[in-house]
Amino acid sequence: MQKNQLPHVQTKLFINGEWTTGKEGLKDVLNPATGEVVAQVAQGGELETKEAIQAAKNAFPKWRAKELSERVQILRKISQLLEEKADDLAKIMTLEQGKPLKEAKGEVLSGAATFLFAAEEARRLYGERIPAPNGHSYIVKKEPIGVVGAITPWNFPSGMATRKMAPALAAGNTLVLKPSSDTPLSAIAVFEIFEEAGLPKGVANLVMGDSKIIGGTLTASDDVRKLTFTGSTAVGQKLFEQSGETLKKISLELGGHAPFIVFEDADLESAADYLVAAKFRNNGQVCVSPNRIFVQKSIKEAFTKLVVEKVRALKVGNGLEDVDAGPLIRADAIDKILEQLEDAKKKGAKILLGGKRLTGAAYDNGFFFMPTVLDDVTQKMTIFYEETFGPVIPLITFETDDEAIRMANDCEFGLASYFFTKSVARVEEVSDQLEYGMVGVNEIAISNPETPFGGVKHSGFGRENGHYGLEEYIQVKFVNLNYGQA
Ligand code: NAP
Repeated sequence: MQKNQLPHVQTKLFINGEWTTGKEGLKDVLNPATGEVVAQVAQGGELETKEAIQAAKNAFPKWRAKELSERVQILRKISQLLEEKADDLAKIMTLEQGKPLKEAKGEVLSGAATFLFAAEEARRLYGERIPAPNGHSYIVKKEPIGVVGAITPWNFPSGMATRKMAPALAAGNTLVLKPSSDTPLSAIAVFEIFEEAGLPKGVANLVMGDSKIIGGTLTASDDVRKLTFTGSTAVGQKLFEQSGETLKKISLELGGHAPFIVFEDADLESAADYLVAAKFRNNGQVCVSPNRIFVQKSIKEAFTKLVVEKVRALKVGNGLEDVDAGPLIRADAIDKILEQLEDAKKKGAKILLGGKRLTGAAYDNGFFFMPTVLDDVTQKMTIFYEETFGPVIPLITFETDDEAIRMANDCEFGLASYFFTKSVARVEEVSDQLEYGMVGVNEIAISNPETPFGGVKHSGFGRENGHYGLEEYIQVKFVNLNYGQA
């Protein structure tokens, strides 16, 4: 197979166990590294979404009643197949999304771990028995909710879908997924695995097409009892509002603008390594990407020097090659970064490195941007408040801990945060005060199958991963049994 050839993957909707073309034509999927058409994918609309909801509704009673060990077995098989096919799935992802192959493979393998964790956790959805008056039993049951609607973004086209589908299925729900139209192939590849693993027909359904129409149909349906969304805050707010009418249970994983605070007692070399690794993962197109780097004044010069050296060494290019960062997803992503940089420069910031679109034969047809370091960023600049979805490190100077915390919290988002220090007292104090759903202390790995992932404020609510992730897909039922009468 040629290096840039797409591994075999379906291009259709998957409804009630059938691959189907849909009535809304085809849509091109583009390779952001080359601008080439990777595939043409079938499109549906209201009709297909309604069919998918109906299929999920019909499949629900049997799936929820399925012997637990059989349900667990299917989920374990999905995990195993994701692992076995990780190389092909990674290549599909790199071709439609752009990230380096090794990152793409890591994402697929983390999906496999998520399915395995959900399979194990399905056995631990314990209910409760509460002390009751004589002759009575107070029983609390945990039940699946029913049909789940799931909408996912392009930046982790496989991981964001598996993170929702694994716990939803493990808890006994059925579902309809709508992936991003920029990157549908990675989600389709997961559905091929569902089929191979023997997931019964109708349990998981996949629709692609106009997002407003599909989102509107999912939110308007009383049969969809839960909506789970990962994406921008603006769309999350719309879906929240739309879901009000049918009073769905809802989880929203939205935008972030993570602070990364380096205190003067930190291990600077290690903090700089972690910063560059976290910032250039998926080329900065990550909701938990460090976006505002607060550095204590006494170490600012030394830390900046380290960061610039490390960023200068990064290799940018087609994700199929051995590179550290790929392209951005679309041309408008470059425009947004240029606007933020222009505004910052006008207000006194200095570009220490990068700051431009990459040009030349290897770059001209794709959406490549230079790894960028921006110094002297202040609260007057848009980049301080607006999520940067790209390869820019904005440096901000602070003097006291209070000042750092105040500036870090001066943001509408509250997803991930990071800080680096060797002081135990600081660890306790700062992690208490940061208004964020997740805090990495001398660490950037905050997303694991076992641990709760999610935000506060305009980053949304609900948690994914860990047992918290499964709880999002259950409802509690209380049974008061008067057994004296039974
Ligand atoms: P987006 O524009 O909000 O799109 C996300 C998904 O919503 C896509 O499937 C999109 O479909 C769909 N969509 C768009 N408009 C819709 C509407 N009116 N009704 C229903 N669905 C609609 O976000 P994105 O640009 O793909 O992703 C980047 C954002 O996601 C960033 O803000 C990032 O921080 C956030 N994110 C958050 C997390 C987290 O866990 N908190 C993780 C990853 C990303 P189409 O593509 O077909 O339009």
